[in-house]
Amino acid sequence: MRILIVEDDHLLGEGIQTGLKQEGYAVDWVEDGEAADTALMTNNYELMVLDLGLPKKPGLEVLKDLRAKGNDMPVIILTAMDTVEDRVTGLDSGADDYLTKPFDLGELGARIRALLRRRGGRSNPVIEHNNIKLDPASHSVSKDDEPVDISPREYTILQLLLENRGKVMSRSRLEEGLYAWNNEVESNTVEVHIHHLRKKLGSELIRTIRGVGYIIDKP
Ligand code: CA
Repeated sequence: MRILIVEDDHLLGEGIQTGLKQEGYAVDWVEDGEAADTALMTNNYELMVLDLGLPKKPGLEVLKDLRAKGNDMPVIILTAMDTVEDRVTGLDSGADDYLTKPFDLGELGARIRALLRRRGGRSNPVIEHNNIKLDPASHSVSKDDEPVDISPREYTILQLLLENRGKVMSRSRLEEGLYAWNNEVESNTVEVHIHHLRKKLGSELIRTIRGVGYIIDKP
């Protein structure tokens, strides 16, 4: 899961980035509105955390332009402006949720999970697929109700495939979920993680579509 943070407060941006990385997300962080536009044009993100008061281009303009292009990714706005009007304007401009500074990192994490869950069309926080369960809150996976030992990167790939059941996910799409810009992508890494996932969860779970990518079929 790749997330974009747009925040010009250095301490806060760094804190959010560190916190979300610990939760297993690939996180890119930019510090002004124009850099946000560039990042959004060049990468696929699952979600954006957007400050409103930004240098070069205000957060609200970034949000409006994103929606005008038809991009419906979930957006959480961060605002220090604790007035009802600011929140209403933000939500009316296409934000899905908001947090007023100062806020708790744990709450941001919970709201991100809720938005990603809604986006996947699920009301149940746990993803169930045949005998496999994946719990985004605890980053845990079980098979036949027995916990499965799984690495953060294997978890990320499994979650992307489960959230997109019935769709073929290309290797580059899975790689994007794994890495932020500052990490180098090793050439065969997705294949290695898929291999481990099949060993742990059953060889029939993930199908290879040759030359295209990988798929978990709808149950
Ligand atoms: Ca700011």
